Amino acid sequence: MRFLVTAGPTREHLDPVRFLTNRSTGKMGFAVAAAAVAAGHEVVLVSGPVSLPTPEGVERVDIVSARDLLAAVEERLPESDVLVMTAAVADWRPKATSATKLKKGTMNPVLELEPNPDILRTIAPLKGDRLFIGFAAETGDPVPEARRKLAAKGLDLVVANDVSLPDSGFAVDTNRVTFVTPRNLSFLPLLKKTEVAVRIVAWAEANARREGEGRIS
Ligand code: C5P
Repeated sequence: MRFLVTAGPTREHLDPVRFLTNRSTGKMGFAVAAAAVAAGHEVVLVSGPVSLPTPEGVERVDIVSARDLLAAVEERLPESDVLVMTAAVADWRPKATSATKLKKGTMNPVLELEPNPDILRTIAPLKGDRLFIGFAAETGDPVPEARRKLAAKGLDLVVANDVSLPDSGFAVDTNRVTFVTPRNLSFLPLLKKTEVAVRIVAWAEANARREGEGRIS
């Protein structure tokens, strides 16, 4: 199968040296890309700014902002069977961006923001038979929010996790996730992100639509 994986944070620049971003390190998405290649799939990895090496055999596309990410996903989606959206997309961007460094003395202390596009909602009409997998990183019980996102974003699987736990979420090597599908809830134990990635790839393999077959989950 052909996987399109997004990873890492986005950066929303105010000027060439200042930006809004988040704590994503890209570990989960890079692990998914590596697991998919190891399982014999083709992988395009669209990554925000992270300091991780590209897994061997993966085609990497670097982006900066949420709008870059949307453009890259729109371009590469037609040739993909599975989209895994692990990227932590910044919800907001500065309304004004300066091409030159803003001077401290002349900067407005109130930052005006405007919303970024929701990538999954924007590309939902292009889904067709593709599997769309999203993430829900929440503080507290992630399942209710994951269920809401599953429906609102038209996803086949939401990988939900509580990022307030010390062993889950940003910048650690482990994750305790729940697979939320329209029909099932599956609580996975504490696993290395590399192992969570293997489970995600296996789920996609088991649920890809084959000629004349329905989906399992
Ligand atoms: O940020 P949120 O919790 O809504 O993210 C849930 C899913 O939606 C994630 O898979 C994320 O990559 C995706 N997302 C998106 N476009 C955004 C924000 C999030 O596709 N602007």
